[in-house]
Amino acid sequence: MKKTIKTIRVDVDKCNGCRACEVICSAFHAAPKYSSNNPARSRIRVIREPLTDIYVPVYAGEYTPAECAGRDKYTIDGKEYDECAFCRASCPSRDEFKEPDSGLPLKCDMCEGEDEPMCVKWCLADALIYEEREEDVPEGIEQEELEVGLESLANKYGMDKILDAVSRMTEKD
Ligand code: SF4
Ligand code: SF4
Repeated sequence: MKKTIKTIRVDVDKCNGCRACEVICSAFHAAPKYSSNNPARSRIRVIREPLTDIYVPVYAGEYTPAECAGRDKYTIDGKEYDECAFCRASCPSRDEFKEPDSGLPLKCDMCEGEDEPMCVKWCLADALIYEEREEDVPEGIEQEELEVGLESLANKYGMDKILDAVSRMTEKD
């Protein structure tokens, strides 16, 4: 079996800090679509340091229920950045990558359903480059995933219900 790995390569040297990516991401995910834009709702955030001409786009990654015990601190071209500045997590220690009203975590979904992510389309500086590749999934994984999936379904609904649903599906065939 093959799976598709989607990647956005970030060319930091080309980013000019225009924030078009933040604007389109928040508009694309607004409900209804394009009804509003608010970079605070964006799943990409541009760390801006205009004086040193440094702009670093950072994508929203996984939600984490607990903050790290350690902290990252970066220095680039002599400028020291805030702790955790480039971290992708939606984490209890800060407000980044959270819906401003509800506090729910935001995560980049690669603009599910689009042929190319919106932030890539809107980045006129070509700082964001979309790439796709196919990778083989080792045999056995699929079966393992199915078993894990079945186990959690069984825990939730009970094995009888699942067997009943499966037998009804096979009857239809
Ligand atoms: S749209 Fe491109 S150039 Fe503009 S801030 Fe985003 S990544 Fe940087
Ligand atoms: S890929 Fe889509 S969801 Fe992810 S940051 Fe770009 S516009 Fe937002």
